[in-house]
Amino acid sequence: MGLFEKKECALCGGKAGLITRYKIANGEYICGDCHGRMSPYTEGLGNMSVEDVEEQIRIKEENDERFNNQFNITRQFDFDSRHPIMAVDDNSGEFALIKDARPDIFSFDNVISYNVDLNTAALSEEERQNDSSLMGILNYLLSDNFGSRFPDMPRCPQGCKVIGMYFEIKFGANPLNADRIRIDMLPGWSTSETEVDKAYMCANEIYQCFKEYKSGQRQAPAGAVQANTAAVDSASAIEQVKQLKELLDMGALTPDEFEKKKKELLNL
Ligand SMILES: [Zn+2]
Repeated sequence: MGLFEKKECALCGGKAGLITRYKIANGEYICGDCHGRMSPYTEGLGNMSVEDVEEQIRIKEENDERFNNQFNITRQFDFDSRHPIMAVDDNSGEFALIKDARPDIFSFDNVISYNVDLNTAALSEEERQNDSSLMGILNYLLSDNFGSRFPDMPRCPQGCKVIGMYFEIKFGANPLNADRIRIDMLPGWSTSETEVDKAYMCANEIYQCFKEYKSGQRQAPAGAVQANTAAVDSASAIEQVKQLKELLDMGALTPDEFEKKKKELLNL
């Protein structure tokens, strides 16, 4: 039983290298290629037999087929145009995590709870003194105005900055055995004010969507009329411009920054 002992993939028989192999039940391993055919959200790999892995690959293939041919996007939530996060099919009552190359579909029915988790860090003295625009947005995030606009979002503690934001979904059951999924709402390493603000806006939209389903305000209607996605998009853009105007009025954005973001949102 040497450290460099070669293992075979229990599924395809290929090489399961030390670094690229994944342990499954009964002391067996699968290779990186076979592992990549399952959903990244599949859990419990260590307890899976070869047959369980095969089943997970089948579920993923079926999911991909359904996403490409049946999933009708009625609403979509993006961090920005380069970072899509979540798509919703209100006709089937399902959502898909589209930040992944092969989106996974989940039913709102299987969701037990959801919340937004902030990761914050104390501001250094240097940051406090040097970055006036950062202080602008931080003061804004702490303000009552912000709290009243996003009452469901967590507040950043006094003297801190936001370094991470996660949307967490807890499931009762799903085919991937995933109890909990965390979506990173801040795609880059940057913690600039605009990025944090975009993450807040997007997380809030996703939160409100889950709330609609959880409260029964929205259900998967049988044979419902398909929503007009373009109309939904422009309505949300106008809403965001209104929010930016508030930021401008309170001095957290310069007129130039406001104009730039407005043009982006309205495709001017
Ligand atoms: Zn393999």
